[in-house]
Amino acid sequence: MNILLFGAPGAGKGTQSALLVERLKMHHISTGDLFRRAIKGQTELGMLAKSYMDKGQLVPDSVTIDMVREELKRIGDKDFILDGFPRNVAQAEALDVLLKEVNRDIGKALFLHVPMSDLVERLSGRRLCRACGAVYHVTAKPPTGGKCDNCGSADIYQRDDDKPEAITTRLQVYENSTAPLKEYYSNKKKLVELDGRGKEEGVFDRVKAALS
Ligand code: AMP
Repeated sequence: MNILLFGAPGAGKGTQSALLVERLKMHHISTGDLFRRAIKGQTELGMLAKSYMDKGQLVPDSVTIDMVREELKRIGDKDFILDGFPRNVAQAEALDVLLKEVNRDIGKALFLHVPMSDLVERLSGRRLCRACGAVYHVTAKPPTGGKCDNCGSADIYQRDDDKPEAITTRLQVYENSTAPLKEYYSNKKKLVELDGRGKEEGVFDRVKAALS
């Protein structure tokens, strides 16, 4: 089954996606990761995306939708998780069209619910490995000895958009643009709301249960 994982920034979409990839061998499509890869590669798309991302704003829909279309074509018929897309109702409508184009469907839209107060704590303490993308937290899950537990790299960094000004904007963008997707997928009878609080393994048990 193909699924969509959505929720506020810091709700744990990336972490749960990584577990789904590792344990259920699903294909992960993260628009945030695709933009970060483009930035690292210093492509034209990357430069454009960075100017929005650093401020915590959404990259324009047309650019994002074209990127997802290419990715959906590239992955063939593998089961996929869409993480971070759609981010607003216009993107959700575009996704419906894209899925028809490639003859695919979304089985469920999983919404990870985490209270606002926890989100700020999660985002401001989040750190990433620049080499492999593994996700850490300064207090809840620090990398052992300052090195990535997954690949051993010492290049652990904080995303520019996890700094305070951008966090505020991202949470506002979420409230205004992304939260309405709950109603969109509820109307389509695809919405499953999950408690995203607590340890990642506990949340993963709920994610797996929702897929069965
Ligand atoms: P994420 O890694 O999902 O938290 O995304 C990081 C940033 O990438 C967001 O704050 C946006 O600037 C941009 N981004 C990711 N996904 C989308 C999307 N579907 N539409 C527009 N911008 C996006």
